[in-house]
Amino acid sequence: MALNRQHKWTVILMGTIWAAMILFILLFLLDYLRLRFRKSKEGAVTTSDGTQRNFFYRWYLVSRNIYQAVATRKNLIATIVFIVVIGISMGYMKPESYRSLKYPKLWYVVVVANRFGFFACGLYPIIFMLSMKNSFLGLLLFSSYERLNILHRWLSYVAVLFVIVHTIILGIYFKINNRLWFLRTTRIKWGWAGMCCLILIGITSIPMARRKYYEFFFIMHHLMAIGTLLTTYYHYSMCQPYVKAAAAIYGFDRGLRCIRAILGYTTLTVEIVGDDLVVLEAKRPRFSRMFKWTAGNHIFLNIPSINFFQYHPFTIANIKEDNTVKLYISARQGFTRRLLEKANLELPKVADSDESTISGASKDLNKADGTVDMHGKSQKIKLRAFLEGPYGAIINVFNVYDSVYFFGAGVGVTFPLSLCRDVLRDHGKVRKVVFAFAFKKANLMDWMLELLDDCKNLSAGLEVELNFHVTREDVSALKSYVELEMPANVKILCYGGRPNMDEYAQRIAEDGEHSRCAFAICGPEAIINSTKRSMNKFLTLQSDVYQHYEAFDW
Ligand SMILES: Cc1cc2nc3c(=O)[nH]c(=O)nc-3n(C[C@H](O)[C@H](O)[C@H](O)COP(=O)(O)OP(=O)(O)OC[C@H]3O[C@@H](n4cnc5c(N)ncnc54)[C@H](O)[C@@H]3O)c2cc1C
Repeated sequence: MALNRQHKWTVILMGTIWAAMILFILLFLLDYLRLRFRKSKEGAVTTSDGTQRNFFYRWYLVSRNIYQAVATRKNLIATIVFIVVIGISMGYMKPESYRSLKYPKLWYVVVVANRFGFFACGLYPIIFMLSMKNSFLGLLLFSSYERLNILHRWLSYVAVLFVIVHTIILGIYFKINNRLWFLRTTRIKWGWAGMCCLILIGITSIPMARRKYYEFFFIMHHLMAIGTLLTTYYHYSMCQPYVKAAAAIYGFDRGLRCIRAILGYTTLTVEIVGDDLVVLEAKRPRFSRMFKWTAGNHIFLNIPSINFFQYHPFTIANIKEDNTVKLYISARQGFTRRLLEKANLELPKVADSDESTISGASKDLNKADGTVDMHGKSQKIKLRAFLEGPYGAIINVFNVYDSVYFFGAGVGVTFPLSLCRDVLRDHGKVRKVVFAFAFKKANLMDWMLELLDDCKNLSAGLEVELNFHVTREDVSALKSYVELEMPANVKILCYGGRPNMDEYAQRIAEDGEHSRCAFAICGPEAIINSTKRSMNKFLTLQSDVYQHYEAFDW
């Protein structure tokens, strides 16, 4: 049976968008494979005897850097997605938009208006697919589903726009033809309701509103998404295949998330660090054999005794070899604040009654057996929790470069810390690791103890530099760390005040001129933005530098 012309052009639009996304992902894969399977382990591309990067390599780097410049600028991606998708859709608007075959070249306003509606529906399955946490597209990017959020968001804006245009054109058409009564029929009322759902999704997703009222945004988003599917289903029967596809994707993802959460049931120990930081440590969930994570992954945490319905994402701060899951959490206003308050409330009780849960060993950086004792004098309570996940990349891409730079600020250190520890364990082609951590108070150095421990057993052939920047205390507070006994290939440097990102960017750019270099940063938005500016200042179009910016935000 021949495909109806509206279906035909909708499917073509969907196929084009899929093809563009797959191409974008393949370019990323190509770069990884280039590094992973390169022959030389030495890595130098401009050697001391003057061997130069060849012509193709130079041009490859130019195009890769343009690709990277786009990929690291959210506003640019958003603009490109918006313009390209609308442009392609407009290209597919005219073909077969006639009223009758007698005048095949004449546009017929009703067909065009309906095509806007069809195109919006055709985007639904793609939009739902891009919102999946269990996303195979994210896996192909060797990255996490949240990298695809920007596409999810901007394709949704395009869908909202198409629905509005569909409504306006048909409204004008019915008015001119004195058929306004048609707009009051049940079918069209479903359409009005659907448009309201979409507009509400659009309004509540505005970044400022989303960040300020996240829980409200979250509930509205899901209710309105379901509302959009239901209303579209009853609005027009020909749209039902797209609605069913989107509903199946949504149901599959939510179902899988529920199963993963149940399998991730575990007990957490809770510890307070300073005024507003909480450390959670859990045994690997008993029921989930699948709970294996890669450095840099995160989980969704639910603590029923704090809130039965909320799941919050937190990066796993340690590596799978540790056999426990560690989370470092900074208390904000909602769930995390209540977690801190609960711990504050319960800890005195624990101190009075249950001595066994108090880790009594005092901090000892250089024990006789050469390991670092990771427990300061602190108290812990226990809570039942669900760890849903892990989510994120399935491999650590950083061990295919010659030199890697990891940078973490505040609680954002969780991401580079686990990546760095993983590279130290299996350094692959890496010969130089620079790790920098900027933090307010010296007590956060406790989070570095496992890293320091790893450095003690470092394999030869790897040079490690650890830079600690304490911003609200005198650098003398870190004296004991500078004096730590370390192998000759490990350098520990401590500084007072904020790090100079220009200096780091300059070093990265220099490395990127003669070797393959990678850089990852995680921290507050302001630091990420200033780092991007520094990198832009020093990197050239021919720098071989992979940049990864991780923000704790969608
Ligand atoms: C992939 C990822 C990894 C993260 N890893 C860590 C980590 O290791 N340590 C850490 O301290 N924080 C981490 N965060 C941030 C952490 O998830 C939020 O700080 C936490 O959810 C705030 O909860 P709240 O109710 O106290 O927030 P509120 O005080 O209500 O809001 C504070 C901010 O957190 C955002 N937020 C609130 N709830 C969520 C949610 N469910 N999902 C995403 N954002 C939310 C809000 O938009 C707002 O911008 C991570 C976030 C993401 C997206």
